[in-house]
Amino acid sequence: MFHKVLIANRGEIAVRIIRACKDLGIRTVAVYSTADKDAMHARLADESVCIGPAETAKSYLNIPAIMAAAEVTDAEAIHPGYGFLAENAEFADICHESGYVWIGPSSHSMRTMGDKVVAKQTMEKAKVPLVPGSDGAVCDVDEAKRIARQAGYPVIIKAAAGGGGRGMKVVHSEPALVGAFLIAQSEARMFFGDDTVYIEKFLELPRHIEVQVLGDKHGNVVHLFERECSVQRNNQKVLEEAPSRFLDEATRQKICKAGADAARAVNYVGAGTIEFLMNPDKSFYFIEMNTRIQVEHPVTEAITGVDLIEWQIRVAAGEALNFKQEDLSINGHAIECRINAEHPFKFIPSPGKISIYHAPGGRSVRVDSAAYAGYVIPPYYDSMIGKVICHGANRANAIRVMQRAIHEMIIEGIQSNLELHRRLLANPAFQAGDFNIHFLENWLKEMNA
Ligand code: ADP
Repeated sequence: MFHKVLIANRGEIAVRIIRACKDLGIRTVAVYSTADKDAMHARLADESVCIGPAETAKSYLNIPAIMAAAEVTDAEAIHPGYGFLAENAEFADICHESGYVWIGPSSHSMRTMGDKVVAKQTMEKAKVPLVPGSDGAVCDVDEAKRIARQAGYPVIIKAAAGGGGRGMKVVHSEPALVGAFLIAQSEARMFFGDDTVYIEKFLELPRHIEVQVLGDKHGNVVHLFERECSVQRNNQKVLEEAPSRFLDEATRQKICKAGADAARAVNYVGAGTIEFLMNPDKSFYFIEMNTRIQVEHPVTEAITGVDLIEWQIRVAAGEALNFKQEDLSINGHAIECRINAEHPFKFIPSPGKISIYHAPGGRSVRVDSAAYAGYVIPPYYDSMIGKVICHGANRANAIRVMQRAIHEMIIEGIQSNLELHRRLLANPAFQAGDFNIHFLENWLKEMNA
């Protein structure tokens, strides 16, 4: 096992990784920007190194500065967390070539899944269901028209190099296609430096269901069941849960097997997530794989009892998984609420000083956060303050535990979205599990009307 791990991240995920390292008896190195000198991750780690100014390009994305921090502290391995450099295959290569262990998949897996066209082609070979549409890149307008007609309108044009909800265009009819196609191409070139685009049928009322996978360096791959992440706004998840209440056992087995097959197709090592869209008739399609740990990983930990960060570290160190697929089962239900520093209904970020902070507690409640009373949330990074994760014997129970937890939580001095969660948890459609990816946005519109 490693003696020392450097965490190339900040906020709650850096704290989460530091905690896992401590549980494993590993020393930790935090890196921080000048804006984060009082941040919790910089305080909790055994050593902390300033890597630059607030601007992310000069600190958390500054590869030479991070490598220098690893060098001076004599770290053996680097955990990238999520966001920042987590899906940067070049960074993974640099770590490797400089003699550090990358706590994540091979750069080959990352590159295959990072290009959405190559990813789809790889998934097709692995017989993972794909959204109907182009087999690969679509090069000109005539081809776009032909494929859109075949798939049937509406369609969605996507950038091969896109991500984070950017680089997608929905088109409802052929007259709109030509303009949209050319704009999509030029935007893809502008934003991602690659004008490759492809076309999919646009699914109108899907759910977002994703499968957690874990692989080791000995060829073992398991899935850890699904997460339901349909409660979104602007493609940003707000609340996640596991398992999905929408799945029957046969569908669960099918989608989880597809997730594990997808991971096997790229010899996946570490924790990863296969994202699917599921139609009301329960047909489902691969949309992308995230080759990193995800924000919502704790709901999977709550229902399976597996510590995903610990296993990321263990498999990176060469350990084999010490459990098999048949050893895993779903225990109860878990929900995660993302607590953001923002206006609960206008979603305007609200950085600043947290004057009063009280985290909820009690049975079945977990809080992953880097906040404390007196902490000043800097305006430079994302607005997530932390996550509350609740577990129950069943979904109704988990909702009640979450209602209790949200009611107990106090965040003052800044605005937070606690009130949004309070109302969401009381919403009858949410309580019935009757929603798709448009639910939250439609409900917000209704409330404003
Ligand atoms: P990104 O990498 O930018 O997150 P994804 O391919 O994961 O892009 O898609 C992000 C979101 O866009 C999905 O969660 C879904 O809400 C929507 N979306 C993507 N593809 C389709 C599709 N074919 N039909 C309907 N919605 C889609």
